[in-house]
Amino acid sequence: MLKILFFLFLLFLFVTIYSFKKRVDNILDAIFPPRDKAKQNNNRNNRPEQLVKCANCGVYLPKSEAVKKIKLTGGVVYFCSEQCKKEYGKR
Ligand SMILES: [Zn+2]
Repeated sequence: MLKILFFLFLLFLFVTIYSFKKRVDNILDAIFPPRDKAKQNNNRNNRPEQLVKCANCGVYLPKSEAVKKIKLTGGVVYFCSEQCKKEYGKR
């Protein structure tokens, strides 16, 4: 009898941990969009990272290091630094 209870307890523990992990994954997805996950995969496969051009000074840099700005029209502009982002906004 004790063995059955122990088994049920383990099962309960497993289900609890599993659903908790799922919830954490959902939260992580909300904080870090799936696009970031794809980027991590790229790094894991040692593929060369996509380069983006700074919209202000024209310097090329890896996408992961670029400062992103979402335009009102829906497009994304990249900058090499917060400084360039500010300067671009002034124009
Ligand atoms: Zn720049």
